[in-house]
Amino acid sequence: MMMKIPHIHKIISTTLGLSTILIVFNIPAIAETTAPLSNLSTINSSASNLQVKTRKTNLQWVSSVAEKVIRANGLDDHPWRIQISDEYDINAYASELNKIVIYKGLLDQIHGDDAALAFIIGHELAHHTQRHSAQQEEIETHLKKRLQKEAETEFTHWLVAEKTKSVKPIPVITKEIVKQRIAIQKKQELDKALQSLSRQHELEADEIGYTYMAKSGYDINGGFRIFNLLSRLPSDYTENSTHPPTQQRINALKQVVIKHPWLNLWIDGNQRLTNNSQPLKFTLSEDGISLRINSRFVQ
Ligand SMILES: [Zn+2]
Repeated sequence: MMMKIPHIHKIISTTLGLSTILIVFNIPAIAETTAPLSNLSTINSSASNLQVKTRKTNLQWVSSVAEKVIRANGLDDHPWRIQISDEYDINAYASELNKIVIYKGLLDQIHGDDAALAFIIGHELAHHTQRHSAQQEEIETHLKKRLQKEAETEFTHWLVAEKTKSVKPIPVITKEIVKQRIAIQKKQELDKALQSLSRQHELEADEIGYTYMAKSGYDINGGFRIFNLLSRLPSDYTENSTHPPTQQRINALKQVVIKHPWLNLWIDGNQRLTNNSQPLKFTLSEDGISLRINSRFVQ
């Protein structure tokens, strides 16, 4: 993940300017025997009897939970893509228009906990459904233009003020220093605004992700188990982090649980699952590496 991918939303902290270079937890990849992807095009989520379940690969596990979350929340009017990253990080992210990537390290840490997985999937789905990446791009473009104008105006004002003080010409170097100072200050303003937006989006994804998970009928404590896991990791939190500190996310989630009564969510999701009881079908995506959870329109 050394290449720059703009605006991906991970489940845990990244730092501005290093947003895709995540140093959270990295141990050498462990050889894993997963079914080759080409075999997965035939997997159907309905084939989940207990025997099969115990032998499920990560991708099958993630996809079957994701399928239920998507269906219980009426998000099945277009396809989604699920990918398991071979990197052994404890993380997950949402990217492009409909993709969710989960790292093997995270799956290992929550192995078998459907509700914890549903919370992660819900969180990443929420980044997509709330247009967080698009919003960040739009706001960044808008802000950059505004700050650029402000910087020019400030520089002009400074020039005018200097000229009224003295008739001597202002040295080029002085002008450059002032320009730089203004530019640095504006860049800091931009970073601060984007960071604040990012943190707001993370809390929103936690909240909506929680409702997605609860509507799917999973144990509502799944999210707390994720945060407990994150809080056991070495903290890479700094004041520039794109994510709020884990303790703040835990406190916010406690409020979310009170705000959205579990039973209401469950009734709503259960109704949808009953009305739309046919599991969505899985096929290999055109990208060749992710599994596509098809929309309900695919027969
Ligand atoms: Zn996130």
